[in-house]
Amino acid sequence: MKNTFEHAMPNAEGYFGEYGGSFIPDTLKKVMDDITTAYEVCRQDPAFHAELARLYKHFVGRPSPIFHAENLSRKYGVPIYLKREDLNHTGAHKINHCLGEALVAKKLGKKKLIAETGAGQHGVALATAAALVGLECDIYMGEVDIAKEHPNVVRMRILGANVIPATHGRKTLKEAVDAAFEAYMKDPIDQIYAIGSVVGPHPFPMMVRDFQSIIGNEARIQFQEMTGELPKNLVACVGGGSNAMGLFTAFLEDEGVAIHGVEPAGRSLTEVGEHAATLSLGEPGIMHGFKSYMLKDEQGEPQEVYSVASGLDYPAVGPQHSYLKDTGRVNYGTANDEEAIDAFFELSRSEGIIPAIESSHALAYAFKLAKSGEKGSILINLSGRGDKDIDFVVKHYGKDYGIESLVARVDE
Ligand SMILES: *Cc1c(COP(=O)(O)O)cnc(C)c1O
Repeated sequence: MKNTFEHAMPNAEGYFGEYGGSFIPDTLKKVMDDITTAYEVCRQDPAFHAELARLYKHFVGRPSPIFHAENLSRKYGVPIYLKREDLNHTGAHKINHCLGEALVAKKLGKKKLIAETGAGQHGVALATAAALVGLECDIYMGEVDIAKEHPNVVRMRILGANVIPATHGRKTLKEAVDAAFEAYMKDPIDQIYAIGSVVGPHPFPMMVRDFQSIIGNEARIQFQEMTGELPKNLVACVGGGSNAMGLFTAFLEDEGVAIHGVEPAGRSLTEVGEHAATLSLGEPGIMHGFKSYMLKDEQGEPQEVYSVASGLDYPAVGPQHSYLKDTGRVNYGTANDEEAIDAFFELSRSEGIIPAIESSHALAYAFKLAKSGEKGSILINLSGRGDKDIDFVVKHYGKDYGIESLVARVDE
């Protein structure tokens, strides 16, 4: 077992073991170095931590509670607990790192935050942070996604952000990344590319992880206060991997705590383009400025990926997860669309909490763990709430869960 420092810290070049680093054009190297230096200054600065703590408490509503899901615990014969990131302002964990990034940007004297967004969750969280901290905000989004995710587009615009359509190619997330990156390259001095997970070049995997680690730091204390011990199992869904790293980091050194990351198995694990199980089925490679496990096609291009949860369909994963997989400290498994939707309804109907479809993957995996005979307590990171997903779920799955007549009415 490695100590926390070895588990938690990349080296000076941003490597976790052989993963991470910084594979970027020379023109960006100096800018990334400046961000790394500014972040190091922030990290050592008690005033920075005090400001972030103030915002976490009074703006986000932290600490988020841990809830003992007694109905599910009874059903599965194992104590099940939920870390309630769904109760945060804006409805998910993403606000934790968006606020941190916005404060670092302010410290650096940047004028504008830019980012891409797929379903709009990162865009809304970043637009929220930009409004609060007093920065401009440009969000790049594929034209197809703009039509699909209209409520989030409206939210971003109400918050004062510009939503800039990506109009080439398939007009979805990948094209939005291209457009945002191109805009960033044009002016990396006044803008900062606020990456939405523990991915991208150094220092982002470390910095986003540090901002999210509030989840596990709180949970470790709360769980001990509630039960007198540490959880036996942690479970979190893994897209880029930020909510998972946020929960896991505080427990990496606790040998008695088994840690599980859950990737989306989508419609099929055996068909390319039908899942996004990067750690389960991918190989080490370089994409989007860093080295990690990734899903690539024969030409070395990012594979098509799919999940019913739009926050999980990313063809790579944060480099620290790759490292934690290889060292064996974290076990990575999967849950498919059907299992996730089932868990979505199960939590809604047994505990009165509607989870995000992303978080439902973690729930589904925890239920499988319990069914396979696990008896130790399970702490699940409920990364977000499901309000954003209800129309989609009712439209596509309503009749399977007895709300067919409602579907008919919605369609009228
Ligand atoms: C974006 C999102 C995720 C996936 O991102 P990670 O970086 O893997 O945490 C998970 N859950 C919710 C609710 C999200 O909005």
